Amino acid sequence: MLEQPYDYTARELVEPDWRRLPGFADVTADEWRSAQWQRAHCVKNLRQLRGVYGDTLDESFYADVQADQSGRATMSLLLPPQMLNTMVPDAVPTAAAMLADPVRRYMLPAASDRLPGAAASHPYAARDSLHEHEMWAVEGLTHRYPTKVLAELLSTCPQYCGHCTRMDLVGNSTPAVAKLRFELKPVDRQAAMLAYLRATPGVRDVVVSGGDVANLPFASLEAFVGGLLEIESVRDIRLASKALMGLPQHWLQDDVVAGLGRLAATARARGVSLAVHTHVNAAQSVTPLVAEAARTVLAAGVRDVRNQGVLLRGVNATAPALLDLCFALLDGAGITPYYFYMCDMVPSAEHWRVSLAQAQTLQHDIMGYLPGFATPRIVCDVPYVGKRWVHQVAEYDRERGISYWTKNYRTGIEVGDEAALDRRYTYYDPIATLPPGGRAWWRDRGVDPVAADRAAGASRLASLVD
Ligand code: SF4
Repeated sequence: MLEQPYDYTARELVEPDWRRLPGFADVTADEWRSAQWQRAHCVKNLRQLRGVYGDTLDESFYADVQADQSGRATMSLLLPPQMLNTMVPDAVPTAAAMLADPVRRYMLPAASDRLPGAAASHPYAARDSLHEHEMWAVEGLTHRYPTKVLAELLSTCPQYCGHCTRMDLVGNSTPAVAKLRFELKPVDRQAAMLAYLRATPGVRDVVVSGGDVANLPFASLEAFVGGLLEIESVRDIRLASKALMGLPQHWLQDDVVAGLGRLAATARARGVSLAVHTHVNAAQSVTPLVAEAARTVLAAGVRDVRNQGVLLRGVNATAPALLDLCFALLDGAGITPYYFYMCDMVPSAEHWRVSLAQAQTLQHDIMGYLPGFATPRIVCDVPYVGKRWVHQVAEYDRERGISYWTKNYRTGIEVGDEAALDRRYTYYDPIATLPPGGRAWWRDRGVDPVAADRAAGASRLASLVD
């Protein structure tokens, strides 16, 4: 019998032994389980990173991370011990193993990861590439789709991802990016959002996000979600927290579980669907503690825990990697795979992005293994449009890597725009992935990633162009 392209085997989740890392050698199980301990021991700088890994990593690795932080990084370092422990999970890490690790590749970026020179960013890359701020109905409330809004309650997370699409607003400023700041006080911002939603009954679905809601004092989150639950027209509420994976200890705290239970009971009584959405990109991140947190959240009464991952080259952009992740989520943790977003066109992200054609192939290759309700859709978040399944593209110039998309609703800034539904909207493949003719076309417009790469003596583009 011939082998299947993907070989499914049920796998047990593993919590890597944190005591293999010099800085965590004496940490007890009770300390590890404490959200407070995890937060107090996050790595925020090179000194703290050295404190965890010591001499197991050589100087070149630390210099590589430092060069990125002082150079192109759009996000500052913030890594809970839980996340660090999932990098190179089954060995004392060497620098080479760390550089090759999928979690490290997006959570602890190094300068050598990025494409050199002008190739690092697509010419149309932008801060706030999805134009969320333009669509703020009130500060932090993006009204893009007719029936749905995104409520950004805060601008911090317990962990910072290198590719963050909200790099414009979320986290601390880096040498490359001075972050925007909210102007309203949190309590006033929340009040303004609730007032808008009370006055806008066409909105039935609210994504409560940030940042990450795990960084809000639970009383504040409970007050806001409680306010949403009093609005008759709100029927779906989704709480966005990558911390369910990055800091599962947060969601296991007694006060958080009790508070979530109260909100879930109210939601149920009012016929509102309350769910938690998380963001996991690699199977090795799904550990027994993550599974315990997800099952605890479900037991507290939320309707579902769903995963919205990001498709990232070098992290998960192969069919086996995506399927391994989905099965770990579904079988191991009761988390429903939901979406994989193509990485947005933010600055210095070209090395993470894949082409639309590659995304379409991946969608094809993952079909048929998972139950239909848990087969994730790979989506392109097209600027000024919103999420489109990758096969919904209206026209695609593969040579130049330009895809054209249409839409069937007006965003919040187009209510008076008669042409909005007739227009075509563009998205761009990474130039380094284009055939020679396409790269030449961009080069004629002043963009030459291959020449930039040669000048830097690097060879990574060769693997992107294959
Ligand atoms: S958790 Fe989400 S909002 Fe926070 S840094 Fe990561 S991608 Fe950005």
